Amino acid sequence: MKTFPMVILGGGVAAGYAAKEFVSQNGGKGQLAIVTAEQVPPYERPPLSKDFLAGGKKPDDILISDPSFYREHGITLFRGFSVSKVDFARRRLHGPSGRMIGFEKLLITTGSAVRRLNVPGADLPWIFYLRQLKDSQHIHAHIKRGKRAVVIGSGFIGMEVAAVLTNEGMNTTMVFPGDRVWEHVFTPPVSAFFEKQFADHGIMLMKDETVVGFEDKRNGRLVVLGSGVRMPVDLVVAGIGVTPALGLFRGSPLTHDQDGIRVNEYLETNVDSVWAAGDIANYPDAIFRRRLRIEHWDNAVEQGRVAMRNMMDKFQPFVHVPYFFSDEFDLSYEYWGNAEGHDHVVYRGVMKDKQLSVWWLKQGVLCATLLMNRPDEERRYAPRWILRRAKLNPAQLKTAKSLRSLDRTFGQE
Ligand SMILES: Cc1cc2nc3c(=O)[nH]c(=O)nc-3n(C[C@H](O)[C@H](O)[C@H](O)COP(=O)(O)OP(=O)(O)OC[C@H]3O[C@@H](n4cnc5c(N)ncnc54)[C@H](O)[C@@H]3O)c2cc1C
Repeated sequence: MKTFPMVILGGGVAAGYAAKEFVSQNGGKGQLAIVTAEQVPPYERPPLSKDFLAGGKKPDDILISDPSFYREHGITLFRGFSVSKVDFARRRLHGPSGRMIGFEKLLITTGSAVRRLNVPGADLPWIFYLRQLKDSQHIHAHIKRGKRAVVIGSGFIGMEVAAVLTNEGMNTTMVFPGDRVWEHVFTPPVSAFFEKQFADHGIMLMKDETVVGFEDKRNGRLVVLGSGVRMPVDLVVAGIGVTPALGLFRGSPLTHDQDGIRVNEYLETNVDSVWAAGDIANYPDAIFRRRLRIEHWDNAVEQGRVAMRNMMDKFQPFVHVPYFFSDEFDLSYEYWGNAEGHDHVVYRGVMKDKQLSVWWLKQGVLCATLLMNRPDEERRYAPRWILRRAKLNPAQLKTAKSLRSLDRTFGQE
């Protein structure tokens, strides 16, 4: 068994950026290993539901670092190594065929696992989920112009996949339980805006619907809905959310619950010399003063970097404004912060011109912003004000021609 001073368990986004950080901090050759169940070196996941799914990119195009990067810097990459047990007492990972890898320091970045449908017919081969590169390749291989697709779920993955399938010529229907798209994040006007864009592209929305089964009969494939509707279909993609990939840690000394592995502000777990980062990490957020767990790219990148610096004895707290982005058709939007508990929403821009910004306030303090096609200064001020817990006057925010004047007045640091 080989033992490494540092091991990253999981080879996704957080791992890929932690490895880059290791190199930029002059980590020595032979000091670091990455252990991943996948056959591919760490890669960017967001393209899997965007241009990669549409066939516009090859696997090599979305790698975080070229395989030569790991070789040149003496980072050992264990691919296809699905860890079946972490022995925290003996400090070793158990893998396939009795293989083991020892660690002195461990960074856990096992990410998320997709939620699966538990209804009759859910294991039929034309029902797909999207988490890994190979899932995106499988779905891509089944895209057929003029055929019918059903996308289950209306979160950002469901919306992005529906947009790609439609762009690729499939007749697409979205089925979801709520009465508007992504109600968990969007305000009603923003949901209405996206629903109109989707309808304009020919996507049919079936709201307040649940899927209760699938059938594959001689005369065709069917999605069966709770309302009794039976929809003929060729391809189904379910984007019904994810859960932290915690299976390995049940019964371990690691403090965790269904909302992730608990870490402190340095992303350290309760087990000595073990850190966690990315989708799996439940961390104390210094800005919102509560625990958060974030399932987005930017969080995985930044936590991967900070956790690696701390593994290299830098002692840097993780303080970062949560951020994500999404693209559907010709629309790209960005979101900063956390709108939970907000009591006021301010809109700027002209929605019908596809340019809008949404500002969520809690007792006058800016807590989240969504921007689409807005001036650069909004991009600059939104995260800066959220970080500083800026108190804003909603009427001024709504009407200010330039935000610069407001930046001078709130005066909070
Ligand atoms: C299709 C898709 C599109 C997305 N688009 C966006 C977007 O537009 N914007 C945005 O902000 N975010 C987006 N995200 C979210 C973002 O990609 C994730 O938040 C990010 O990948 C999390 O990084 P991570 O390192 O925590 O986990 P992951 O990147 O999921 O990596 C986890 C790794 O751990 C490995 N692993 C798990 N268990 C084991 C085990 N037992 N043994 C060995 N290896 C194991 C997995 O195989 C995987 O390689 C998207 C995600 C998906 C799936």
